[in-house]
Amino acid sequence: MYPLSSPYDHDDDAAHARLRVCDIKGFGLGVVSLAFFPKGAVLDRFTGEISSRIKQHSLQVDEGRHISGTRFIGYLTHGCDPNARLDMEKFELVARRPIRRGEVVTIDYAETEDRLFVQFACACGAMNCRRWITGRQEPINATGVDYLAAETSGKARA
Ligand SMILES: [Zn+2]
Repeated sequence: MYPLSSPYDHDDDAAHARLRVCDIKGFGLGVVSLAFFPKGAVLDRFTGEISSRIKQHSLQVDEGRHISGTRFIGYLTHGCDPNARLDMEKFELVARRPIRRGEVVTIDYAETEDRLFVQFACACGAMNCRRWITGRQEPINATGVDYLAAETSGKARA
């Protein structure tokens, strides 16, 4: 088995035609679905370069290993209630619920990342939105603490 290379998997090409990296207004680059995917469907099987360093579009495979140079998954948008998830053992992007054609594909960055390249404010619109996104092993940084405090006091005034 060569988990990072599957030259005989013809599904790979089909999957590539079913996703597209797009510039999503106000959110930067993201991945849009070009087809309908039922829950549990594999949207993409990915390959890339494994390194011990966190990069802007890298994703954590396991402790100390990060994959970069991927065709799609490095551009996935974060969502606190995402429509997809990454299987880092099979190197697959899987639908968590049915995904419509034209939908932005999202994952929860904290599901794979211990630390983020940069923490950021989130306005994904989910009921359970965490408002400030960190890796799963790191505290909210000073910018995040200030952001959340300002946001809370802003809400109290409204
Ligand atoms: Zn959110």
